Amino acid sequence: LLSAQGLHLSFGLTHALRGIDFEIAHGERVAIMGPSGSGKSTLLHVLAGVLTPDEGEVRYGKTVVSGLGEADRARLRLSDFGFVFQFGQLIPDLSAIDNVSIPLLLAGMSRKRALGQARAWLDQLRVADHASKLPTQLSGGQAQCVAIARALVTAPKVLFADEPTGALDSLVAESVMETLTDVTHANRTTLVIVTHDARTASYTDREIVVRDGRVSSGYTDRQPARR
Ligand code: ATP
Ligand code: MG
Repeated sequence: LLSAQGLHLSFGLTHALRGIDFEIAHGERVAIMGPSGSGKSTLLHVLAGVLTPDEGEVRYGKTVVSGLGEADRARLRLSDFGFVFQFGQLIPDLSAIDNVSIPLLLAGMSRKRALGQARAWLDQLRVADHASKLPTQLSGGQAQCVAIARALVTAPKVLFADEPTGALDSLVAESVMETLTDVTHANRTTLVIVTHDARTASYTDREIVVRDGRVSSGYTDRQPARR
């Protein structure tokens, strides 16, 4: 579904990506791992069409994402991709359910329908009881589940997550990963998750290890911890 071919990208003198190749199948859940500064976030941004590589290609199905103009890439991100980050994603003065309904309202859906769908996603992420709370009234794990619900409410084909459990303690991180893997499995959503945490990565189907801007040979295929 998603492939990288010969990706290179520099920021000035920093050669962040130095020739990256791999393929991710539809419905697969993949962890991108590697040391700090190895190029994981940069790679995620290139895969998602946020950054354009200097060399090489990103393909999403038949679309050469890296060959699209900015407007087409933005349209693709809105229609097909979802994003989750480590912190600060929820709008602080909106309730959990209002945060989740935003992408639908922006897409022109009526408020009533949007709230209905937002509630269904909060329910799937097991935080429906907290729908009317403000972000400051949620625990870290609950806030992350609300952010995941917001990323999934538009039914993206691919969910990109950069250290989604990075700010959570390990027990909460595991419960968020368990919910995230269940939900992406149930919806056949392809998941690409950047993490430096081996426990978090163990919930995925496969790890891609990045070192110094290259895919390291310590590339593992294994049974997922949970389906
Ligand atoms: P971490 O685990 O710490 O998040 P990472 O693997 O995600 O690290 P990247 O953020 O992809 O690493 O950065 C890869 C390299 O590119 C680093 O040397 C970083 O300093 C550099 N870099 C990333 N973004 C930029 C930018 N916008 N401008 C300049 N240099 C950048
Ligand atoms: Mg990073």
